[in-house]
Amino acid sequence: MPMDAVEPDTPPPAATDDAPRVINTDDGAKDGLAKCARCGATEISLNVATGNLRCGFCRFEWSTDNAIEAFNLNGDISALAGLLVGSGSSDIVPSTEEILTFKCSACGAEVVIDTNTSTQARCHWCRNTLSMNQQVPNGAVPDMILPFKVEKSTAVEKIAHFVGKRKFFAHPTFRAEFNAENVMGVYLPYMVVDINAHAKLSGQGEHQTRSYTVKVGDSTQQRYDADLYNVAREFDIHVNDLTVESSSDRLDQNTAVNSNNIINTIMPFDVENSVRYDSNYLAGFTSERRDSNLDQLAPLAHTQAEDITRHRVNDTLKFYDRGVRWAAEEVDVRGQRWVSAYLPVWLYSYQQRKSNGKTFLHYVAVNARTGETMGSIPLHQSKLLLVSGIVQLVGTVIGLVLVAVGI
Ligand SMILES: [Zn+2]
Ligand SMILES: [Zn+2]
Repeated sequence: MPMDAVEPDTPPPAATDDAPRVINTDDGAKDGLAKCARCGATEISLNVATGNLRCGFCRFEWSTDNAIEAFNLNGDISALAGLLVGSGSSDIVPSTEEILTFKCSACGAEVVIDTNTSTQARCHWCRNTLSMNQQVPNGAVPDMILPFKVEKSTAVEKIAHFVGKRKFFAHPTFRAEFNAENVMGVYLPYMVVDINAHAKLSGQGEHQTRSYTVKVGDSTQQRYDADLYNVAREFDIHVNDLTVESSSDRLDQNTAVNSNNIINTIMPFDVENSVRYDSNYLAGFTSERRDSNLDQLAPLAHTQAEDITRHRVNDTLKFYDRGVRWAAEEVDVRGQRWVSAYLPVWLYSYQQRKSNGKTFLHYVAVNARTGETMGSIPLHQSKLLLVSGIVQLVGTVIGLVLVAVGI
C-alpha cells in the first residue's frame, strides 16, 4: 500500500445503546519516578513473601488497593446489562508506539520504555527507575495485576521435581541442558470476564421404563421400552471470573509447534485478589503485552459460557436416563464485564531442535499463586519404544502363564 494512501471518507459510527460503558481504572496513576513514601528512593519491588511492594533502601512496605473492590467489579452479575469494560481493556490503536519515551524528573534525561517487555526502565544517567502507570492504547498497562506469591526457589524445586519424575523418558540433549534455575517469572496478559446470560434449550429426552430379553430364533436380544418426553429448560446463567488469554502468541494453540496448551492446565488463578496496577510489581519479572481486542476474544468467552451452560443443565436431566437430544440451544448474553489483568507464571522454556530441522517449544509452567505445575518435555523416542516393547513382552508372558495353568 502506498504510504500516502488517502483514507476514504466515512462518517463516525453513531452512538448506540450498546456502546461499552468504561470503568476508569487508572485514576490518579502517574508516570515517571515512583518513589517510596518514606525515603523517596525509586528502588521498589514486590516482596513475594508478603505480597507487598517494598523499598529497596529503607525496607518500608505497602500495597495497592484490591482492584475488585476499588473498581467495584464484584457487583451482582445478575444485574449486568450491556457491555462494561475496564479502561485498560480498550481496543489497541495500531498507530500507538510500543517504545515510549519519558523524561526523568530527577535529571532531565530521556528514558525509553519498551512496552513489549516491561512498563519500567532505569535512567542511564541517575540510575532512578521510571514507571509507566497511565494507560495508553497499546495494551501495555492492564486494569489490574495479580502479584507473584510463589517464590522462585519453590518454582525451581517444583520444575526440577516435575522433570525429575520424567527424566528416564526425556531426550538426552534436554537432560544435558536442563537447568531449573533458568526459570523466568512472567506476567501473562488475560481478560477476566463476567457474563450474565439467559439460556433456552429444547429437545426430546428418553426415560427407560422396562428392559427385557426376547428370543429371536436361537439367540436372545436385549430390548427396552422408553417414554419419549419433550424437554425444555430456561434459566439465567452467571459466569464469574472466566479467564481468557489475550496475547496472540499464547492463543496460538498449534500443538505442532508449541505447547501453549500447558498454560491452561495450571488454572485457575485467584483473580479476586488482584490489585490496582503499579509497574513496581513488575520489577525483576518480565511481562507480555496484550495484543488482542475484545472483538477477537468475545467469541472465545461466549463459547466457554455455552459449554458451561450445557454442563450445568446436565445436572437437571438425570430422569432422562437414555439421554436428551437438543433441537434448539440458545444462550443470549445480556450483560458482560471485561477487565484486563496480568497473571503470574513461572516459566521454564526449552526449544527443541528436531532432526527434520524444525523446532518445537516446550514449557514447564508453575502457577505463581497456587504452585500448580504442568509441562511438556522432549521425549527420547527409542526409550519409549523399548518400554512399550517390554510391556508387550510382559503381557505375552502373563498370557502364556495363564494358558499354561489352563485358565
Ligand atoms: Zn524507602
Ligand atoms: Zn535520570
